[in-house]
Amino acid sequence: MSRQEVLKAIRQQSEVSVLIVGAGINGIGTFRDLALQGVDVLLVDKSDFCTGASAASSHMVHGGLRYLENAEFRLVKEALHERNRLLQNAPHYVKPLPTTIPIFSWLSGIFNAPLKFLNLRDKPSERGAFIIKIGLMLYDWFTRGQQTLPAHRFTSRIKSLEDRPQLNRDILCTATYYDAWMPYPERICLELVLDAETSNSKARALNYVRLDSAADDTVTLLDEVSGERFDVKPKVVINAAGPWIDFANRAMQQHTRFIGGTKGSHIIVDHPELHVMTRGHEMFFENKDGRICLFFPLLDKVLIGTTDIRIDDPEQVDCTEEEIDYMLELVRKVFPKIKLDRSHIVYHFSGVRPLPSSDASTTGQISRDHSIQVVEADDKLQFPILSLVGGKWTTFRAFSEQTTDAVLKRLRITRQANTRQLPIGGGKDYPRFEAEQAIWINRVQQETGLSGERVKTLFERYGTRAEAIAKYAAAEADEPLHSQGDYSRREIMYLVLNEKIVHLDDLLLRRSLLAMLGFVTGELLHEVAAIMSPLLGWSVDEMQQEIERTAHILQAHHGVTSDKLRLVPQV
Ligand SMILES: Cc1cc2nc3c(=O)[nH]c(=O)nc-3n(C[C@H](O)[C@H](O)[C@H](O)COP(=O)(O)OP(=O)(O)OC[C@H]3O[C@@H](n4cnc5c(N)ncnc54)[C@H](O)[C@@H]3O)c2cc1C
Repeated sequence: MSRQEVLKAIRQQSEVSVLIVGAGINGIGTFRDLALQGVDVLLVDKSDFCTGASAASSHMVHGGLRYLENAEFRLVKEALHERNRLLQNAPHYVKPLPTTIPIFSWLSGIFNAPLKFLNLRDKPSERGAFIIKIGLMLYDWFTRGQQTLPAHRFTSRIKSLEDRPQLNRDILCTATYYDAWMPYPERICLELVLDAETSNSKARALNYVRLDSAADDTVTLLDEVSGERFDVKPKVVINAAGPWIDFANRAMQQHTRFIGGTKGSHIIVDHPELHVMTRGHEMFFENKDGRICLFFPLLDKVLIGTTDIRIDDPEQVDCTEEEIDYMLELVRKVFPKIKLDRSHIVYHFSGVRPLPSSDASTTGQISRDHSIQVVEADDKLQFPILSLVGGKWTTFRAFSEQTTDAVLKRLRITRQANTRQLPIGGGKDYPRFEAEQAIWINRVQQETGLSGERVKTLFERYGTRAEAIAKYAAAEADEPLHSQGDYSRREIMYLVLNEKIVHLDDLLLRRSLLAMLGFVTGELLHEVAAIMSPLLGWSVDEMQQEIERTAHILQAHHGVTSDKLRLVPQV
């Protein structure tokens, strides 16, 4: 169903069993699970799908080694199991990530950790080899028997320096363990939405629709595109607004204080030497202030993060100059000889972790676990609100399952299916081994007449959904973009027609990595906007507004320079 058709259907029939406010990973995961149970469910987001915290993650699919120190054993175990499930169910977008910790001390943290378990110490400190060894042993133990990823190992100082000659010579050794990463979190979100709608015609998702207000049995929604307001009458509301949960509850006359968010920022740098020196690993360590620092290759760039700063207003979250200094400095700590500065940054992004409200004295101590906070129906509202507080990207499926179970109980519906082994989007029928992939690519090449190289690119970008895109691309004359030759005109058209795109920035920031990898130029903005324009019915003025809107977002929130976005006249 198109956006207009969904809006029309809701205007005709305003009753809905479940309304989910917020299409980050937790709202979307719950949407998919409820859809699978045959429930009529409406998902809305004030922005595009996956624009909040879910678009600001460090891209790690991980157990969370550090949370062991806060004694969050349940969370770490759950997260490790979910990591392994994601490796199975979304193999096109979730990949193993060898992770190396440079270690500068043998015993540091040895007394802190037990005291922290007992809540007797909250001062952060660096972790030494002994504490890291215990953590990694637990990490391996939680997934024993699964053999999805190799166990951890320690490497001597001499060998570590041989492997990475630029490494800080003060290290005593390194430890390497395995987690996973996801290049395209935004695409996983989108694919989950599409999967849900395919599985159930009564499951409908709308981006750019805001929860506006609520009274009695009615929630009023605002279409951010047309400015129109319309009503829905839900039996249950799920507030999955992440860092905005308390704001959304306030809009529904409920004054809660569930969230105490912390801001985190990342930079993306174009630095081939640093890229090579990572050896394809994530470099992961805890700074003296107890913050987690990491960097790893994001395709041909390097992603560096992250900070952890308390914040009240989730709308005010841009990466500051101090944060950039902090992140550049932490890379220098690991690779002091590598010259890295602001000129290497192609993009930055920030977001707010929707952590539970807490009076812990350091942000690192705030629980990363998730919970459902319920506000029951009362004299103001005739429906309950279930607020989804906290939760890692990695654990979304488990959190969604728990939320779905809570909703099914209220609706007196029996669960029909579960999502534990359900493939996601282009992870369906995914050929896992190189030989199978070659056969797959060869078959699609034969059927479409595209080159093997082109099919391989599409396969790496979209998993098995690449087949539909390749067929669409091959159906009529196609050509590479002038401004970005590994994308084609009809590939863009396919995304616009099939992936719920409303604005130019949806395509450049969330359906693709074009913005994050620093590929957006003035020429690309104009070229892509011109392809989208007839498909979305934009007038010349509207197309220009879209270009300006995207340029503004990139400059104001992602550090892209106006020079880069200027349209250079072709001679
Ligand atoms: C810096 C950072 C790094 C992180 N790194 C990792 C990591 O590496 N691995 C990991 O597992 N987790 C990580 N996390 C945690 C993870 O990203 C979040 O916990 C998770 O994405 C939260 O998802 P959510 O769906 O609850 O919230 P969000 O993704 O924020 O979604 C909430 C949505 O609600 C919408 N909304 C708000 N108000 C309204 C309204 N009135 N009407 C309609 N819609 C509304 C917003 O537009 C938003 O899209 C990180 C988080 C941050 C911030």
